Amino acid sequence: MTLAPYAAREDRSRGRRHPEAPPQGRSEFQRDRDRIVHSSAFRRLEYKTQVFVSHEGDLYRNRLTHSLEVAQIVRSLARGLALNEDLSEAIALAHDLGHTPFGHAGQDALDDCMKPYGGFEHNAQSLRVVDELEDKYAEFTGLNLSFETREGILKHCSLTRATTLGDVGERFLRRQQPSLEAQLTNIADQIAYNNHDVDDGLRAGILSIEQLLDVPLFARFHGEVTARYTALTPRQLRHETIRRMINALVIDLHGETARRLASAELPDVDAVRAWPETLVSFSEGMERDNRELKRFLFEHLYKHHAVYRVMYKARRIVRELFEALFGDLRLLPPEFQAAALKADDDASRARVVADYVAGMTDRYAADEHARLYDLRQLR
Ligand code: MG
Repeated sequence: MTLAPYAAREDRSRGRRHPEAPPQGRSEFQRDRDRIVHSSAFRRLEYKTQVFVSHEGDLYRNRLTHSLEVAQIVRSLARGLALNEDLSEAIALAHDLGHTPFGHAGQDALDDCMKPYGGFEHNAQSLRVVDELEDKYAEFTGLNLSFETREGILKHCSLTRATTLGDVGERFLRRQQPSLEAQLTNIADQIAYNNHDVDDGLRAGILSIEQLLDVPLFARFHGEVTARYTALTPRQLRHETIRRMINALVIDLHGETARRLASAELPDVDAVRAWPETLVSFSEGMERDNRELKRFLFEHLYKHHAVYRVMYKARRIVRELFEALFGDLRLLPPEFQAAALKADDDASRARVVADYVAGMTDRYAADEHARLYDLRQLR
């Protein structure tokens, strides 16, 4: 497969922090992907909330299935645009590795706890996981991934934090763009979660078809499906509508991005980085439809009473775990305790506690909270 001139290429990679011999029988970015899949943070994604806490049902998306959906969407897009499919896949599989338990509620609670010590951002944490926290290779700490994969993982980042991140922080300070593969993964992430959240929301009975008919994108394909088929089960109707939505978003994104790339005539990936705006984009009409869908989900799913109640508890679990562990470092397991005792200021000690809490799965966090706070449970 010939790559477009503006695709990320491994022969022009900015390399790994710790130089290694080239891999045999696979590309550099495939090696990154393999290391990500073999990491323990990747396996833990299975028990981390996307929107629904894992004990609410076995059929809802979790961060692992979400990451697989993002990877699958971005691979098709990358291939269609002659971009680097291996790199896109690696970024997609790693993009949520730093997420706390309990989704955004957990992230916000941990960020609040960490406010005096530099805050907590899940994107920066994903990078920390692959750069430092996965620790099982003899010759380096972290997974020693390529610059391009690390660049893609760090989707957002505050300017203060960017100054501490070396090479991958530079683009935020220079206001540059990441590679097209990173831009593509960012939008594939949105396509995946908007659509699977509609699916899960309907399944949970929190959203209804009637409500969703107010969302232009949903209404259009729901109309198409009901016009074509007369006797569908609710499950078939839901799936036939959502798969058309995903397809339409992907095709639109491909078309608009290809159009922009053709008119920009970029000689290489550095020109992508220097371009004043991101080049991966929906058309204007689809951008509007996508915004509507997002707004709908925000209003009717993420803020729904049933979701909110669980998230209220989740925030409390994360906050109280942090308070107990930071208040008495001896409550940490030995490895984290040793790291915390070695740290020479409060900010570094708090960071160790945040690393430990962020790495927990939903159920581990809930169990650990009970072990620390439930006085009837003395083990
Ligand atoms: Mg995601």
